[in-house]
Amino acid sequence: MEFETKLIHAGVSEDKYTGATSIPIYMASTFHQEKVGETEYEYSRSGNPTRDAVEKLIADLENGNDGFAFSSGSAAINTVFSMFSVGDHFVIGNDVYGGTFRLINTVLKRFGMTFTVVDTRDLAAVENAIQDNTKAIYLETPTNPLLHVTDIAKVAQIAKEHGVLSIIDNTFASPYVQRPLEQGVDIVIHSASKYLGGHSDVIAGLVVTNDQKLAEQIGYLQNSIGSILAPQESWILQRGIKTLALRMRAHLSNTKKVFDYLSKQPLVSKIYYPGDPNNPDHEVAKKQMDGFGAMISFELKDGLDPKEFVEGLHLVTLAESLGALESLIEIPALMTHGAIPRETRLENGIKDELIRLSVGVEDPKDLLLDLEQGFANLKGSQDHVRNGALDS
Ligand SMILES: *Cc1c(COP(=O)(O)O)cnc(C)c1O
Repeated sequence: MEFETKLIHAGVSEDKYTGATSIPIYMASTFHQEKVGETEYEYSRSGNPTRDAVEKLIADLENGNDGFAFSSGSAAINTVFSMFSVGDHFVIGNDVYGGTFRLINTVLKRFGMTFTVVDTRDLAAVENAIQDNTKAIYLETPTNPLLHVTDIAKVAQIAKEHGVLSIIDNTFASPYVQRPLEQGVDIVIHSASKYLGGHSDVIAGLVVTNDQKLAEQIGYLQNSIGSILAPQESWILQRGIKTLALRMRAHLSNTKKVFDYLSKQPLVSKIYYPGDPNNPDHEVAKKQMDGFGAMISFELKDGLDPKEFVEGLHLVTLAESLGALESLIEIPALMTHGAIPRETRLENGIKDELIRLSVGVEDPKDLLLDLEQGFANLKGSQDHVRNGALDS
């Protein structure tokens, strides 16, 4: 079945008991057992038919065997790390989600886990960071907010050669763009609060694997820790996922148009977008992604105020998060990445003037007009070459 058909028909496409084409929201904590133990469902933390539907759907979409739904992406990440123990070591990407760093630094380290942070694009650095007690390589690609792209197949191979797991947070790409299990990765994690949910109306996390042993462990931990996705949220999430392809097509095509516009905009000094033929990661992105994602970051020319720019937009919403229908813009240094000490942030290439844009599905004409008026009204814009990036 093709990916776009799977979105509609994979997972549980109708209710087993009534034939309802929309899976019902089973708001039950417990289930009647005709005979002791003879029951498909016992208790909703351990399993719920509405949650099952979204778990089967994400497993099919990522070409995995087993899916697991959690109350947030962070809960999903924490549950995956709960497979490990005191003394275990991890190689982790230097550009991972801020909340993941917070989890590592303030929670997991207290449980005796250790981490070596590397730029996972540098395959030699990844390999050199592996120690005798290393249990997994954990990364994101594309990364946030610089959209660096790591060669997934090569990292998965390094992991296999060293007998460690590879774990990818696939949130920024979505399974429409990238399916890491197909490249040999062991575990895929999503914050489904972004592209998968897609409508800025649900917080959820998903995990998928192909490995039966890992699936047993994750399922055991999902039930033991209990940070499951509730039936109502499971229903909202599966409904959002069904339109992923329709949304992603618009996201991707709008992002290309925004890139073309920004490339000609004289007030922009630098653009970070894997679809840029001049981006150092472009070839790797082309190889492993279907489309280049819908995130784009850029810097303004010296003397221009990024805060004034993002506050001056009318249509593009100033907000954290990404992967929503509406275009969302933010300043990582002041917002999503504000908790990282400035020095570390600068070392990682995240400048104060960097702007991150999650391109939505509005009509691209309106998006470009809003960006254009934002640039035109910036104080100091007259000092730079200006005029007509839209017309040229
Ligand atoms: C948002 C996000 C998370 C955390 O997910 P929540 O659903 O907000 O808990 C993890 N990883 C990435 C890449 C994210 O963007």
